[in-house]
Amino acid sequence: MTKSQDKLFKEGLKEQNLSKLKKVAKGDVHSHCGLGLRFSTFNKWAGGSVTKPPKAMDGIKGLDKYIFNETIGYIKTGKDVEFLIEEAVKEAISDGVTVLEPSIDCHDITYFNNENDFLDAIMAIKNKYKDKIDFRPEVGMPKLISPGALEDLLIPCIDSGIFKSIDLYGNETRDDDYERLKKYYRYARKKGLKLKVHAGEFQGPENIKKAIEILDVDEIQHGISSVNDQYAMDLIKERNIRLNICPSSNRILGSVKDMKKHPSRKLFDQGIKITINTDDLLIFDSGVSEEYLYLYKLGLFNEDELNEIRKMSLI
Ligand SMILES: [Zn+2]
Repeated sequence: MTKSQDKLFKEGLKEQNLSKLKKVAKGDVHSHCGLGLRFSTFNKWAGGSVTKPPKAMDGIKGLDKYIFNETIGYIKTGKDVEFLIEEAVKEAISDGVTVLEPSIDCHDITYFNNENDFLDAIMAIKNKYKDKIDFRPEVGMPKLISPGALEDLLIPCIDSGIFKSIDLYGNETRDDDYERLKKYYRYARKKGLKLKVHAGEFQGPENIKKAIEILDVDEIQHGISSVNDQYAMDLIKERNIRLNICPSSNRILGSVKDMKKHPSRKLFDQGIKITINTDDLLIFDSGVSEEYLYLYKLGLFNEDELNEIRKMSLI
């Protein structure tokens, strides 16, 4: 089984055959549930008048502007949140994803009558597709989360036992205050959750070092600026931290200017564990299979290396 999957995956790359790639098991371990469906699906659901995401955006600010103007207004009820989560799961299945770790923002609880309705909805989706995909819900929060929301929204999510990991996202700044979230990360660790953080996407390696040292994370979403600092790369390797990389996201948001020199190559050569992921399918319009093919076509990796990377996402 494993050998035939290896063969099919490598053939898919060499023949640039997406349907073969989609038949091979893959992980998507860095994605955001509300944006985990194709634009076409979202637009149809929203009534057909949503403006398409631009092909280039001004970083997280540009991304937030698009979401604020175009998508968020359509999400009004718990049923809407359920729809978005379920579509993200269905989309992943259709791409051959067998391990899915998408973040669900803890503020989504507020769309439901109570936290149990929210948690039940997630469990119902998990159970509905359990034979097809290992859907591991991840609880997400923005960096600007209020102290009240940390207590009232995040803690119940951690305590629920439903979420298998935690993630933090938002605009990157030099003053990211990881210190204030330290105790929540420690609590999540105590409860058995895997710890992730968005870092080093736009800011330099000091942002990554700070996140590692303060939050003691297992994985970093992006983390690509570590490529500019040997100490940061050594730290990542020494602590066995996995970097969950999203190439199309880097191109469209402008964090990588020359994709032929994408940092993933050097990070891989340093022996750092990396995975390839979608980030926001609705925005970047590229599933995991397409992302592998994209890196292959760029000439960044050969088929054996990408197969090795693929397997790292299935753990
Ligand atoms: Zn992300």
